[in-house]
This record gives sequence, C-alpha cells and structure tokens, in this order.
Amino acid sequence: MKPVDLRIDARWIVPVEPAGVLTGHAVIVDGGRIVAVLPVADADAGYAPRDSRTLGSHVLIPGLVNAHTHTAMTLMRGIADDMPLKPWLEQHIWPCEGRFVSAEFVFDGTLLGAAEMLRSGITCCNDMYFYPDAAARAYEIAGMRALLGMPVLEFPTPYAADADAYLTRGLATRDAFKHVPLLRFALAPHAPYTVSDATWSRIVMYARQLDLPIQTHLAETRAEVDDALAATGITPLARLHRLGATGPNFIAIHAVHVTEADIATLARQSCHVVHCPASNMKLASGIAPVTTLLAQGVNVALGSDGAASNNRLDLFSEMRLASLLAKVTTRDAAALPAATALQMATLNGARALGLGDVTGSLLPGKLADLVAVDLADVATQPVFDPVSHLVNAADRACVSDVWVGGVKIVAERRLATIDESAVLARTHAWQRKLAS
Ligand SMILES: [Zn+2]
Repeated sequence: MKPVDLRIDARWIVPVEPAGVLTGHAVIVDGGRIVAVLPVADADAGYAPRDSRTLGSHVLIPGLVNAHTHTAMTLMRGIADDMPLKPWLEQHIWPCEGRFVSAEFVFDGTLLGAAEMLRSGITCCNDMYFYPDAAARAYEIAGMRALLGMPVLEFPTPYAADADAYLTRGLATRDAFKHVPLLRFALAPHAPYTVSDATWSRIVMYARQLDLPIQTHLAETRAEVDDALAATGITPLARLHRLGATGPNFIAIHAVHVTEADIATLARQSCHVVHCPASNMKLASGIAPVTTLLAQGVNVALGSDGAASNNRLDLFSEMRLASLLAKVTTRDAAALPAATALQMATLNGARALGLGDVTGSLLPGKLADLVAVDLADVATQPVFDPVSHLVNAADRACVSDVWVGGVKIVAERRLATIDESAVLARTHAWQRKLAS
C-alpha cells in the first residue's frame, strides 16, 4: 500500500474532466497533487492515507475559477448602485480610487475578497487592479491561486503617472513574486478606449517576449463600440487584432457587443472570453452572445467582475445567471445546460488563465484544488442530478470544505488561513474612511 497525504470520499464526485458523475469513488492526494480518482475498493487496496475525510452528503468538484475580478474593490461593495458604466466609473469609482487607493487599501481589500471567494468555493481568480504587489502578499497569506494583472492606463493615479510607469511597476512586481507557486502574472491594459495604440504595441511586445497573457475589458458597452467605430472606423477588437494583441494568450473580458466578424476573429485566434453576467446586467451593459461564442469554438469562462458592480464574488450565482440568460436570449431551454455552466466556471476558466494543465478539473496530475458542496439541506433535497443542483439549486452557502494545492483552506465553513474578525475590523475602518 502506497502512503499518501490525503484520501477524500464523497457521495458524488464531478471531475469535469472527464464529464459525468462518479459515485462510490474517492480522490487520492499526495504532494499537493491529485494522484487518482478511483473506486473505493481500489482506494482501500492501493493507498494508506495519512489523513482522510468522508463527505457523506457532498458533491466534490474542482475549485471554481473566477476569471475576472478586481478583488480589492470589495471594499467598495455597494458604494454606487443603479447607474450605467460611464457615470458609475467617472462620478463614483475613479474619484473614490483617486482619494483612497493605496497599497494598504489593496492589501486589505484583497484579503476581504479572497476570504469571500474561498468561502464561496473559488480557489483561483484573475485579478486586475492597482498595487498588484499588495494583492500578491494578500493571496500568499490567504493560500489562494491568482493570475495577477499588471494594470496599464494612460492617465495618472496614485499608483503610476503614465503608461511607462504602470508597465515598469507591474514588471517589477512580477520579478518580485514570480517564485511564488500560487501566483502567475498577466498584462492588464484596462480597455481599448483607455490605452493608446503605442502602449498596446509595447504590451504586445512584452507579452511575446515574456510569454504573458493579455487581459482587457472589451466591447463592454454599446457606446464603447459606437465611439470606436466613429473614431477609427473599426471595432475595438479589430483594432487590437491589427495591433497584434489577439491569440491564445488574449483574454477578452465581457465581449458583450461583439460583431459576427469579431466572434470569427476570437475563434480563429483561439482567444478566450470571460462572461460576467451579473455585472453586465447590473450596469445595464447588455448580454454577451455566449451560445454563439461557444458554438464557434471560443473558450468562454465566467467572472464576477468587481464587487462594486455585482455586488458579490460568487460563481454559483454567475453559473445560474449564465445558464438562464442563454436560454431566454435564444428562446431555447436546451441552451447552456448545467454541465456547460460548471465547465465554464472551472476548466474553461483555468484554460483562459493559461492554467489548464494545473487546475480546473480533477484529472490525476493536476494540483488538488477541491471544493466540497454539501447538498444535505432542505433547499437541495432530493438530489436526482448533482450537476443540475450545483447550477440550479445550490448556492455558495453549501460550500463546506476547500483545498488549494492539497492544503486545507476552508474546514467546515471556517477559514484556516485568514483571521475573519481581523479582516472585518480593517473593513469597518475603511468603510468609515470611504463614507467620510
Ligand atoms: Zn472589470
């Protein structure tokens, strides 16, 4: 019998890869990686675990991947509701950021957002915000996996004076933290409309030289696309394609108002799209053509966007919204079934972030990013199909246990790595400042 670190037996196991539901199976973890997903009898015969856990009423799934968020903005949750993107950004978010955002703000906000995400079964996120160095320290403490965007804008903020300074600071952060196994880095130009052609060209050059993903907000509103067409005669994506930005390392966030030609470009160039249904609905931006993108072969992941425009970092609600929106927009009840929504929230997210070989499914060899969802409650009984329940009946309150790289991060709904009362005390102090 082979000694291993951990054995988890669950009522149901949904590996995502391969598709389907396993019963009477166990997951074996050693050295932070998944060693095997196998029938209980084979686990009994083959492995001597040092630790074990039996989850009698739970479905065990891969950790959820939040493929777009601004984690530190969790400190601005609910600060300005019920308005469209442009006034929301220009009258509320950017002035607030100009006054308050600092390394300290980002550290505290990232820890708050990481606590929320981990408790919600999100083991990995794609973050885009100022002071990624402060965010990196927070993710290290939290034990959460993250792709950290190095933000790029043309206009000055307390973080950097101009595009050159953003790039220099971002690349220095990558150099300082690239040895941390939980962290990866991406270039994060905010949007086509806030970054010049010259800067985009430099970003494309760095992406090629350093093999880094590029993530950007794209075609989020009708006005963004109309303004671009009036100014340049081409869509925002067509412009970025001309500048060489598209390819398998390109992550298009939102892609609400993309044309048929844009969709063909995204598919041909093997780009990734991050669908953020709640944020797009709340800012009245529109509905991304997800079923068309998927049908054309584009990898579509799910994101919460920041808590200031959502107002929750919760992929259970995003899965449900994505599935329901796809059905109502296509008038096809078969559109975007639960298994597809779950794959978008796990494997597709990992692939979008360039982590498809590392996380996103329970394939042996991958890191043990695991989430146990307890379906014992009256709200999730009876259970005929646990995959349907994950999208249509369960919510994040059902998440009981979370492992990242085989390390127990949430145990019976309590965070092992983050002191929640300390995070709340810091959050309340920021609330007093932001309200002043
Ligand atoms: Zn965003």
